[in-house]
Amino acid sequence: MKTITIQTSSKPSRILIGAKLFSLPGYLPPTKTIIITDENVNRIYRQQFPKVPVIVIGQGEKNKTMTTLDLIFEKLVEYEADRSTFIVAIGGGIVCDVAGFAASIYMRGLPYGFVSTTLLSQVDASVGGKNGVNFRGYKNMIGVFNQPEFVICDTTMLDTLDEAEYQSGFAEIVKAAAIKSESLFSYLESNYRAALNKDQEVLEKIIYDSVRIKADVVEQDEKEKDERKKLNFGHTFAHSIEHNTGILHGEAVSLGMVLAADLSEELGLLSHDQHERLIKLLKNMQLPVEQKIDYLALLDAMKKDKKRKGDSIDMVFLDRIGNAVIKSISINQLEEKYL
Ligand code: NAD
Repeated sequence: MKTITIQTSSKPSRILIGAKLFSLPGYLPPTKTIIITDENVNRIYRQQFPKVPVIVIGQGEKNKTMTTLDLIFEKLVEYEADRSTFIVAIGGGIVCDVAGFAASIYMRGLPYGFVSTTLLSQVDASVGGKNGVNFRGYKNMIGVFNQPEFVICDTTMLDTLDEAEYQSGFAEIVKAAAIKSESLFSYLESNYRAALNKDQEVLEKIIYDSVRIKADVVEQDEKEKDERKKLNFGHTFAHSIEHNTGILHGEAVSLGMVLAADLSEELGLLSHDQHERLIKLLKNMQLPVEQKIDYLALLDAMKKDKKRKGDSIDMVFLDRIGNAVIKSISINQLEEKYL
């Protein structure tokens, strides 16, 4: 097992890569604990949970809502949760985002930790303290920054994950490499087959490297004033594509990165060769690089994006593999390109 501790001004957060679900009781305080999970994870792993109350939410993005929060609060009241109660989310990005948010605002905040069960949440969603829900279809509109006490990344739990869900997790790994680490990018180019085949050694290395990259960024800029925005590479497009098509988050991120790389090349920031390198790795990792896109809806969603500032929007571009830059692009420029 390898541990990365994220040190922020609020509190340290330990990411335990390779720790196991059965070791969870060892990380819990002696106070009351309540688990929040989703129906799939509950069905497969309930027998291995510690014997504490469990709140089960529906699976999938459609449940990342205020309605689910309401259900969680109702159950927390029923289980007589108080300010000393510890919340553990066991699940993928949806469970972690919703449960982390519920824990952060219930009675003005309960301590909480995660057992992260999808590749996407182990490398990204469960790390860094962004929690929240969607609002009227707009992604992550309501939420907080608040670090979990710990995140257990049990890589053996990925064995039960649906293949498409597993592959979609690689989008956030490629993103981390593309914006920050040419060496991780090259490693993925050489080892993508082993990674897709769940070779444990390769998997633990790429999860560790991805978390390390995110941890460094979060330590520098927890509240996303500047450097952390780079983690949104591809996401301005992805959020809109996800909203309009219902494809998986990672698949939308892959398509979003292709659009952002196209723009990077068009703006003269990224060379054609480097652009092609990104496309090739995404394809090798079985991620989508082409899809019919409704550009009208794409622009409409971008106008409502949290990163919009007046007539322009801050977007993340690549100037080479391993380095991202943030530039403001006007809504007019985007309309000229896409409409
Ligand atoms: P998810 O939570 O919906 O999990 C995917 C599916 O796999 C679900 O059906 C779930 O029930 C099932 N599942 C989970 N673990 C399993 C296991 N071990 N075995 C079998 N089935 C399992 O999706 P996700 O891809 O993990 O997360 C996507 C969400 O993460 C999006 O809402 C995205 O916005 C969010 N996200 C958040 C951050 C952040 O910083 N907070 C970063 C990236 C993504």
